[in-house]
Amino acid sequence: MLIKNAKLQKIYGFSKKHLVLLVILFKLKEIILCESSNELLGIINKSQLLNKSEIGFVPTMGALHEGHLQLVRRASEENELVIVSIFVNPTQFNNPEDLEKYPRTLDTDIQLLKQTANCIVFVPKQFDIYPKNDPYEPIDLVGLDQVMEGRFRPGHFQGVVHVVYNFFKLIKPCRAYFGKKDFQQLAIIKHMNRVAKFPVQIVECETIREDSGLAKSSRNLRLNELQQREALIIYHTLLFVKEHKKNFREPLELKKAAIEKFNAGKLKLEYLELVDSNTLQEISDLKSGNITCCIAAYCGEVRLIDNLAI
Ligand code: AMP
Repeated sequence: MLIKNAKLQKIYGFSKKHLVLLVILFKLKEIILCESSNELLGIINKSQLLNKSEIGFVPTMGALHEGHLQLVRRASEENELVIVSIFVNPTQFNNPEDLEKYPRTLDTDIQLLKQTANCIVFVPKQFDIYPKNDPYEPIDLVGLDQVMEGRFRPGHFQGVVHVVYNFFKLIKPCRAYFGKKDFQQLAIIKHMNRVAKFPVQIVECETIREDSGLAKSSRNLRLNELQQREALIIYHTLLFVKEHKKNFREPLELKKAAIEKFNAGKLKLEYLELVDSNTLQEISDLKSGNITCCIAAYCGEVRLIDNLAI
């Protein structure tokens, strides 16, 4: 059963409905679909009456797959109340066609969440997240947003930081869950969280892959079978870099060999970088402990990213 807030409002009136919803959520292990920030705040307030105030937050853009669901599962193990947002954030798309083609599968997403954990599914409108009195105070990203994705998607991370900042202000979670699949995004959100002094623990979750090794992504829905096989060159190149790191003295030599391997496949490479996992700057020494290899490439019209600590 899916509980729609508006329906309960009719039955129970305004003051009791959030409490009723929450009791149902906790006792019957259901999910609540919440489509406005006012509704969400009502529910969060009432959850405190039930001593369920530790909130785990999982921001997503929908088209859910196992990569997202592991975040939800972990959040439900570690928190009293889980909020999963589904919001295709326009400010992080620098390409209007990419925004338009982004898969939207709300009904299936709700079914998947029902099978995964009892949670509140927050599907806000744009004005809920970007109200007239926007709470956002711009954060200096100290250049973290200028490398890799930032070079090819100008403004993307400003959009990501803006939306996550506004979600944190609204929801006030104890913990927020992000995937390492979006490695640069994770580094930037950790920075934003520190600078803005949000009392939120950022929980990092491993990249979930298909059995083939292809990182799960909502964008994979746009790949045909042949393209899914061709896209494996990304993971194979990452493994190549990890395995062959010991055979190279200079990062540039390793990078050159990796690009050569990648270009033997069919994808169009945008970048392949070996970076320090914290600063995101190119490394100058292969012996430094904390290196991540990051790749972005086009498979047909679909842009894919992946990374591996090497
Ligand atoms: P998205 O809906 O693409 O914005 O992703 C929402 C969250 O799910 C982000 O924190 C992503 O890093 C995470 N995520 C997406 N795909 C994966 C994956 N294959 N493995 C782990 N986390 C993922």
